[in-house]
Amino acid sequence: MDFGTPNQLDVIHKRLKAHYGSPGPGVRFSPVGMLIMAMLGSRTRDPVSLRAFRNLRQRFGTAQALAYAEPEDVYGCIREVTYAETYAIYIPQALQAIIRRFGTLDLESLRGMAVEQALMWLQGLRGVGPKISACVLNFSELQMRALVIDTHYLRFASRFELVHADMPANLAVRAIQRLIPNTWLATDTEQHHVLVKRLAQEFCVATSPQCHGCPLRNICPYSKRLDS
Ligand code: SF4
Repeated sequence: MDFGTPNQLDVIHKRLKAHYGSPGPGVRFSPVGMLIMAMLGSRTRDPVSLRAFRNLRQRFGTAQALAYAEPEDVYGCIREVTYAETYAIYIPQALQAIIRRFGTLDLESLRGMAVEQALMWLQGLRGVGPKISACVLNFSELQMRALVIDTHYLRFASRFELVHADMPANLAVRAIQRLIPNTWLATDTEQHHVLVKRLAQEFCVATSPQCHGCPLRNICPYSKRLDS
């Protein structure tokens, strides 16, 4: 098995699919809807962020109205989410920035960019980091070939030596994005995120990894070190 190459991700992916099966597609939002949803959910559990999203839709009706809403009115809808005061400012700002850049509140133009370029543009919006930008590209109707890398993935990637353990998170995310095999489609990156998240929650947990029984055990450098 090769390390530090796209083949490594491919081997992991095939193992996990054989173990868990192929995950089905998630709920598709428009790219702008996904941006709002991902900002609300960046530090908040899904049921809470979904409730906040519905509150916004009920209060403002359209993303256009939300773009020019007063932060205190936005806060009233999203107060349950973590960093609600901050996102009450950042969400309208991000929507206004999209209108300024594309002339309309629409992110369809990102389809014409390379994935790396589209990720960078989104990360230029205040409050939008690597995870949120990848969610917009991969989980929305855009269906672009970005991999959503969260804390679960970074923990796994460090133990599996996809990246150096002491690499800063922002550099690790970029390094992992570059490992995506050229043959993968957007559905592959989406499934890969789901599969690794499940592995990280069931086996590669934060405190003490449960290598015994892990489907990657005999190819994982961390596990091999434990056995030697
Ligand atoms: S073998 Fe252990 S360290 Fe490696 S991926 Fe599985 S749980 Fe994580």
